[in-house]
Amino acid sequence: MTQQKYRIQVKTRLFYKVKALAKEVINGIFSESYALLPRYAEMIKETNPECYALITWHSDHGDVQPKFKACFFSFGAQVKGFLKGCRPIIGIDGAHLSGFFKGILLSALGIDGNNEIFLLAYGVVDTESQESWNYFMRNLRALFEREGCSRDDWTFISDRMRGVDLAVHENFPRATRRCCAQHLYMNCKNGGWSGELFHKLFWIAANAYNPYVYNKAIEKITEFDPNATKYLDTCTEQWSRHQFDPLVCCDHNTTNYVESFNALTKPYRDLPLLSLFEAIREWAMERIGVRFDKAANMEPNHLTDYAKHEMELRSAESRFCYSTACGGGELEVKDGNVKFPVKLHNRTCGCGVWQVSGMPCKHGLRVIYNQRLDPVDFVSTYFKGAAYKQAYAEHMHPMADPTQWPGSTLPTIKPPGIKRSAGRPQKKRRRGAMEARKRKRNTSVKCSKCKEMDHNARTCKSGAGTSKAPPKQRAATNKRKTASDGASTSKAAPKGKKSKQA
Ligand SMILES: [Zn+2]
Ligand SMILES: [Zn+2]
Repeated sequence: MTQQKYRIQVKTRLFYKVKALAKEVINGIFSESYALLPRYAEMIKETNPECYALITWHSDHGDVQPKFKACFFSFGAQVKGFLKGCRPIIGIDGAHLSGFFKGILLSALGIDGNNEIFLLAYGVVDTESQESWNYFMRNLRALFEREGCSRDDWTFISDRMRGVDLAVHENFPRATRRCCAQHLYMNCKNGGWSGELFHKLFWIAANAYNPYVYNKAIEKITEFDPNATKYLDTCTEQWSRHQFDPLVCCDHNTTNYVESFNALTKPYRDLPLLSLFEAIREWAMERIGVRFDKAANMEPNHLTDYAKHEMELRSAESRFCYSTACGGGELEVKDGNVKFPVKLHNRTCGCGVWQVSGMPCKHGLRVIYNQRLDPVDFVSTYFKGAAYKQAYAEHMHPMADPTQWPGSTLPTIKPPGIKRSAGRPQKKRRRGAMEARKRKRNTSVKCSKCKEMDHNARTCKSGAGTSKAPPKQRAATNKRKTASDGASTSKAAPKGKKSKQA
């Protein structure tokens, strides 16, 4: 190729030499990034005193330099803003690093009153395991406790990743779990239930705000295939909106908002760890900064832009509803052929939308307008200026780059032992069923199990395709595990494990 392109002749041996050299340079940059981590945490704490920054490493017997294990970050503006101004729902997800060393970026995200993502905490762990999730959840609890919050009935939404459920309940015993309906649907598809009819029925069930609509859809799914209903019954997490706690005031039944954060970090996940952390910190700093200024000018009782927009939509629909009062703030609202009971004082409507979303539904609005009341008074406080001001009451403080950091006596830590598997790093995200596909269906075969091209589910060699890991990497890890089974015991029980909160 070089001959054609550059008209020069190169010995094959030189190619390998250059490749090895380049590898060493890249390795050096990536390693240095881990070495700087303890100082990075120290510098963050110095510039942002309320930051929770934890770098954990372990040293096996005889090692001079300790090895990186995991880390966890949350800035004061993030945790305080979340606790004071966001709804009590936390989205969690893991995304693989595609750089020189393996690792998984774990993140916890809230949603602000304007329905935008609010980064609460993030960290990197060396492997995807129960212990890793436990580390993340343990630190999340410690972070809340440091802020004087011992609440343990949070709602967590995630896809059904291994280890998450146990880790959540171990640290937050009364937590409610929602699972991403999109991922549940993909599992159904892998189980053989697919097609236009099933797709339609599944999403009617998932988006049902009341048990009536849900039960109807489930009845039809049972007609379609009783085993599909049986499978959906095994899902212990909430995935249909009618199950959601009205106190959460959030009707999200997918992790799309968490994935939008993952899409945001994707261009940085093949960079050295420090560059990734800096990209996230800068993103959060700028984002909070803009909203900090915006919140300052907001009236406490005004609705956020999202709530205003949502209320306008519902308000337009309310014109086709008719209400009949039955006294005591109770009414019957006719919407086409159906009637729903509305209780103004309880802020409920039989359709379920009001309770679950925290904003009056079109039926409730009809009543509110008829009685010459102000709709804003019936919207949850989470969607008002006062809460928004609380969420963005603080901002993050700037810091300098590594060349300006003072010297330190902290140990320089080594990267985790596991390197990423050979081959081109996988950057492409696996696409869900409702997302547009990049390739045309008829051009080539795509496996419904592992999403790889050029083979189908029947000839698939990767096993079940529910794990987050790209199939190629997963297969490689398994191989390595069996190859070094004897040696890996020391990793399971690291001697002299040390934690340091810098
Ligand atoms: Zn309603
Ligand atoms: Zn496959």
